[in-house]
Amino acid sequence: MSFNDFNFNTHISNAIQRCGYTAPTPIQKQAIAPILERRDLLGLAQTGTGKTAAFVLPTVQHLMETSGKQVRVLIIAPTRELAEQINEFTKKIIQDTRLRSIAIYGGVSKQAQVAKIRNGVDIVVACPGRLLDILNDKEINLSHVETLILDEADHMFDKGFLPDIRRILRQLPKERQSLVFSATMPGEIRHLAEDILSNPVTVQINHTRSVKSITHQVYSIEQGQKTELLVHLLKLAHIETTLVFTRTKFKAKNLAQKLAQSGFKATSLQGNLSQSKRQQALDGFKDGTFSILVATDIAARGIDVTGISHVINYDMPDTAEAYIHRTGRTGRASCTGEALTFATAEDSRMIRTIEQALDGKMNRQAVDPVVLATRHAEPEARSGERKRMPTGNKSKTSSSSPRPRNRSTASGVFGFSGRSKG
Ligand code: AMP
Repeated sequence: MSFNDFNFNTHISNAIQRCGYTAPTPIQKQAIAPILERRDLLGLAQTGTGKTAAFVLPTVQHLMETSGKQVRVLIIAPTRELAEQINEFTKKIIQDTRLRSIAIYGGVSKQAQVAKIRNGVDIVVACPGRLLDILNDKEINLSHVETLILDEADHMFDKGFLPDIRRILRQLPKERQSLVFSATMPGEIRHLAEDILSNPVTVQINHTRSVKSITHQVYSIEQGQKTELLVHLLKLAHIETTLVFTRTKFKAKNLAQKLAQSGFKATSLQGNLSQSKRQQALDGFKDGTFSILVATDIAARGIDVTGISHVINYDMPDTAEAYIHRTGRTGRASCTGEALTFATAEDSRMIRTIEQALDGKMNRQAVDPVVLATRHAEPEARSGERKRMPTGNKSKTSSSSPRPRNRSTASGVFGFSGRSKG
């Protein structure tokens, strides 16, 4: 199947070429035709599958073929970054048309957004909180919306947005096309989808499995050795653009600072940053100013940076779905990537759960105690910064080194030993 099979108009076909897409991805193959037919759709697909283009391309074609009052398309996303990304992509598709698109989210001036709405917009990509705020101010009219798209619906639920979404839905006309995209289908999302969608087409893209182009490695490690192992791995030549995940905002900030002090081009993306600082971090990661971004799950949601070579789980994610989301940041489209996970003994159960979701074993990597010769302070510890980098020189190993008591402790937590299981 090729993009020609969809009979897109010349403008959309040119836009697809501009994006450099040569063939539709699986979700695009399945979703574009029903969306063009104005069917409702439930898309079970994780980020990285090409779902944004799957809903934006046919929706823009519909807008170009018909006329109507503003606002005609409402896309709701759980995070500012995702809203911004969808809006950027949409702007790329509608460039040279009369259509206008805006992203609406909190943390930045509301006045500027209201001014744009007053000037007229056809497509609104919004986070629920700020949209409700502007709705309450009566500065936006959603009574002409023809297409509603909920993206990453499961994350809206995680973030407690469902009551807001239902409030927003009450402002929309009943007659409309609705599309819901979600990587997972918890009961609450299923109920929401049943309420919103009418006779939907369901499209499911391998949602429980991580992208095939990713290799998955597990390093059995003690908590106090993680920073040393990270520094060691980052020094290896083939580690390029790397996204590192920590469990807490505080850890993300401190770990990024520690890496920067050690000479790496590292920054953090976490919820405590102002919107402009978040954007700075993200832009810097995209343009290569930073090659390492340390992030929390929430902050990293929807990040679309091409060419991420490695995702490192400094802390184990809480669920297999979170693992799939994190690691979906690498190996995107036609690229390959590596996912490295640091696992302590307590994480062994989660590793098994993840392997079930991946439907395959992860490669066990033994940690060479020699490379962990110098203790680095954990990022939680506020003191003890400016420690020396590990040199790999055995003579520097002291009796207080975090060297595992025996080799099986380092490599055998999951019943494997040796460098790699393959
Ligand atoms: P998404 O799942 O929408 O976040 O998209 C993931 C990445 O895939 C983005 O960087 C898109 O630009 C890219 N992408 C989307 N569709 C295609 C396609 N047909 N061919 C190649 N890359 C694509």
